[in-house]
Amino acid sequence: MVETLVRTAIWRGDDLAIVEEIPAHVCGSCAEQFYDEDVSEALRRLAEDGFPPAEATREIVVPVFSLERRLTKPAVLLPEDTCVD
Ligand SMILES: [Zn+2]
Repeated sequence: MVETLVRTAIWRGDDLAIVEEIPAHVCGSCAEQFYDEDVSEALRRLAEDGFPPAEATREIVVPVFSLERRLTKPAVLLPEDTCVD
């Protein structure tokens, strides 16, 4: 287990927020991340507060891609109650 700072991206509907400098424990074999209780709590409160723009430390521009042109078959939107096994 290694202690390090990580970042994460959190989607809220169509909005994306990035949180960085998160103290985390990272598993050396599977890279899974674990947060201490106070860190999880701080993240939860930040999300609850709706990621206030005034608190943002910086902003980045992110390119957005679509797979539509790279898929050979057109995407089929399944009805919501369709069960895919
Ligand atoms: Zn592990």
